[in-house]
Amino acid sequence: MANHLYDALFGRHEGREADFLILSDGARLSHADFARRAARFAGALMTTGLQPGDRVALQLEKSPDMLAVIAGAIRAGVVFLPLNTAYTAAEVEYFVADAGAKLLLCDGRAEAALAPVAARCGAAIGVLNADGTGGFAEAASVVAPADVRPRTAGDLAALLYTSGTTGRSKGAMMSHGNLLSNAEVLVDFWRFSEDDVLLHALPIFHTHGLFVATNVALLAGAPMIFLPKFDLDTVIGAMPRATTMMGVPTFYTRLLDDARLDRDLVAGMRLFISGSAPLMSETHRQWEARTGHRILERYGMTETNMNTSNPYEGDRRAGTVGLPLPGVELKVCDGEGNAVPQGEIGTIEVRGPNVFKGYWNMPEKTAEELRPDGFFITGDLGCVDADGYVTIVGRGRDLIISGGFNIYPKEVELVLDALPGVLESAVVGAPHPDFGEGVVAVVVPEPGAAPDDQAIRAALGQSLAKFKQPKHIAFRDALPRNTMGKVQKAALREDFKDIFAS
Ligand code: AMP
Repeated sequence: MANHLYDALFGRHEGREADFLILSDGARLSHADFARRAARFAGALMTTGLQPGDRVALQLEKSPDMLAVIAGAIRAGVVFLPLNTAYTAAEVEYFVADAGAKLLLCDGRAEAALAPVAARCGAAIGVLNADGTGGFAEAASVVAPADVRPRTAGDLAALLYTSGTTGRSKGAMMSHGNLLSNAEVLVDFWRFSEDDVLLHALPIFHTHGLFVATNVALLAGAPMIFLPKFDLDTVIGAMPRATTMMGVPTFYTRLLDDARLDRDLVAGMRLFISGSAPLMSETHRQWEARTGHRILERYGMTETNMNTSNPYEGDRRAGTVGLPLPGVELKVCDGEGNAVPQGEIGTIEVRGPNVFKGYWNMPEKTAEELRPDGFFITGDLGCVDADGYVTIVGRGRDLIISGGFNIYPKEVELVLDALPGVLESAVVGAPHPDFGEGVVAVVVPEPGAAPDDQAIRAALGQSLAKFKQPKHIAFRDALPRNTMGKVQKAALREDFKDIFAS
């Protein structure tokens, strides 16, 4: 019997001696070895008592074994929830309880803190360390490999909890069909093949590193240089052996800060892809000037996988996220779901085989965000130009309303970022006694530069309407970002919430 996702990603590589993972110490793991490990992890999940449809929570350091457990879960029909390694025990408890996970796998160092969590949730706990040791790894080495369990396109593969910077984190239900269909589109759109070598320095608890990067490499049959994290020296050292890299914008800015980045270093590369957070146009331009490559920016989210991409051949436009991917319908809407005129800003809605099945155990939340006709309300604000290119101008909750006027932070940020001496900026709203909200600009100066408050105000006065101009400008050494490179606007809003208090 067929297993929709397993067969396509892993099953067809079984017995293949070609490299799948190349590790930072130079060690190599073949597809055949990986599949054997996955089959044993599937066996260990089943002997722990998990049945198809049951959930396993994973708070693990990135490693080949973490990936093999994920493959094993898919093989056994077990739904997995990968958790950010930064989550505290209290946060993990919410996820394990919410998902009703029967097993929590963690790193040995976290076992003491997480054992009571698992006990309170009625889940078993198992240890799997990044170096391949731990009780669960030992159990897997002595059990019989489990057979591949039948799963259809509609069956759940994973629960991916949203970043949840505000409110309760929601478990996005991803089906076998959601994940496979998107990987198929991306392999084709980005021209991945067996000849590629993907430089993988992203975390694998998030859709970008797990589903976009890993599934695309697997489907194409391409090996990955699988690094535990983004370490500048290691990434630069690995670049000559790679052909493609997927990264968040901070990968690109950090590489640009290093003098070793030049055309020789990237001579073997055919494609650089960026996503998960906006790539500044300036970064795009600097990257092209230094390397000769135009970064391909794409846009997606946990609930939908990838929605849009700049073209492989054709114009990759800085500051845009490109065109809707094949099979994805995208419209820009007002609050009622009616399309706004072309070029106007509204909320982006998407529909397609990539869009998730809803939020786990949250039918009301699902109904608020997933329309009966299948369109998902992304919460991202954007517009589409006459050629169909999509530009994201921010999240709905980032919209600032000052004196009754709407202000899209991106518009102000773009003007600020273009000023001499400004490296980057973030614009948020803060409660204001007169205007409801007032604009606050947080500016990061370029190294060695000291842009002056008055000069910035004068420059903004040239290009922005008065109501859009910051009522407060703060200077910081860096913007607060999460592991995926997203600026944490909620943290900035909190920092400046009293700035206009009278
Ligand atoms: P996540 O669910 O953690 O992957 O976050 C998804 C969100 O990241 C989207 O809804 C967007 O707000 C943002 N995002 C992803 N890719 C881009 C991009 N290329 N440009 C701007 N924002 C992006």
